[in-house]
Amino acid sequence: MKFATKAIHAGVEPDPTTGAIMTPIYQTSTYVQEAPGKHKGYEYARTQNPTRNALQAALAALENGKHGLCYASGLASIDAILKLFKPGDEIIATNDLYGGTYRIFTKIYSNFGLKFHFVPMQDMASVEKYINANTKMLWLETPTNPLMRLIDIQAAGTLAKKHNVLLAVDNTFATPYLQLPLEMGADIVMHSVTKYLGGHSDTVMGALIVNDDELAQRLAFIQNASGAVPGPQDCFLVLRGLKTLHVRMQRHCENGRAVAEYLAKHTKVDTVNYPGFSTHPAKSQMRDFGGMVSFTLKGDDWDEALQVMSSFHVFSLGESLGGVESLVTHPASMTHASIPKEERLQSGLKDTLIRLSVGIEDIDDLIADLQQAIG
Ligand SMILES: *Cc1c(COP(=O)(O)O)cnc(C)c1O
Repeated sequence: MKFATKAIHAGVEPDPTTGAIMTPIYQTSTYVQEAPGKHKGYEYARTQNPTRNALQAALAALENGKHGLCYASGLASIDAILKLFKPGDEIIATNDLYGGTYRIFTKIYSNFGLKFHFVPMQDMASVEKYINANTKMLWLETPTNPLMRLIDIQAAGTLAKKHNVLLAVDNTFATPYLQLPLEMGADIVMHSVTKYLGGHSDTVMGALIVNDDELAQRLAFIQNASGAVPGPQDCFLVLRGLKTLHVRMQRHCENGRAVAEYLAKHTKVDTVNYPGFSTHPAKSQMRDFGGMVSFTLKGDDWDEALQVMSSFHVFSLGESLGGVESLVTHPASMTHASIPKEERLQSGLKDTLIRLSVGIEDIDDLIADLQQAIG
C-alpha cells in the first residue's frame, strides 16, 4: 500500500462489535475474564488496550516497520530505550539534538552509570573513533534541532552494523512521510508523536518502531513494567491526526520552502537553516524538507531578535512544533535551555537563533507576518 492509503487505513479495522469505522476509545482499566486466565487477549490496560494497539499498528505500518510501541511522551519513549542498557554501557549521540534528550541522558542516566559522548555527526567517518567495546548505541536526529543539519542515516547504519551496536533515529522532524530510517539501517525509530504525527497541538505522546522481534519484546516489557503508557483518548486523537499526515506534510513542505526562500532574500536576515538549502549528500534521504526553518539576523543583536520574536501576529510564540498552526520558538531559552550555554555555542546554536515551525495557514498571511515582524 502507498503512504496516503496507509495513513488512513493501517492498523484500523471496523470495530468488531458495532462496525464503527473509527476505532473506539476503550476507556477501561481492566477486562472481564470468563475464568482465571481465560480472556480475549486483554487483561489489564497498562499492558494492552485496543485503541493503543490500533495506533501502534498504524505507526509501525507508516515507518515500514514490524512493531510499534507508544509511550506517554517522546521522553518516556527515550527513557524506555535507555532502560535496555546497564551501568558501564556507552552511547554516542549527535551534539546538535533536542534539549530534553540531552537532559535525560546527562541529568538522569549518567547517574545510573551510562556514559554519553556528544559528537558532530555530519561526517560519519569521524564518529568511529568514539566507538569502543562498551559502546551499545548510536543516537541521532536528522534534520537536527534547531540547526537543521543533515546526518547520513545509511552511513550511520553501516557503522552501527560494523561494530554490532544499535542505531536509534529520532524521526520527529522528518516524519515517515519524508524519510524512513528503518529502511536505511536504523534499528529503532523514535518519535515525539506530540509534534507532526499528532499534528494538532492537543496531545503529548511518544513512539518507538522496530523490526527486530526480540528488541520489540524487550521494549514492550519495559512499556508494561515501567508503565509510561498513553491513555486511550490520546491514542484516538493521534489515530485521527495520522489520517491527514500526508496532506498536512505536503502543505508544511510547501509553506516551509516559501518561508525559507523569503528569509534567504531578506536584507536583515543573516543565516537561514533549512534542509532544502543543504549541500550535504544525505539530502537525498529526504523526499522533501518539511516545515522547520531557523534563522539569525544580521548584527546578531539580542534586543532585535527579542523584538522580532515578540512581534508576530499569526505565528504564536511557544515551545513545540509540528502542529497545523505556525509557531516561533527561541531555542536558547525554551527547547534547548537545558543545554549549558558553552555547549550550545560550541554546537553552533547562538542565543539569537529564531526557530519557526511553519504551519499550514495561507502562505500569504505567513509571509506578511514575517514582513511586519522583521521589518
Ligand atoms: C519534542 C521532542 C522530543 C520530546 O518529546 P515529548 O513528546 O515532548 O516528550 C524529542 N525529540 C524531538 C526532536 C522533539 O522535538
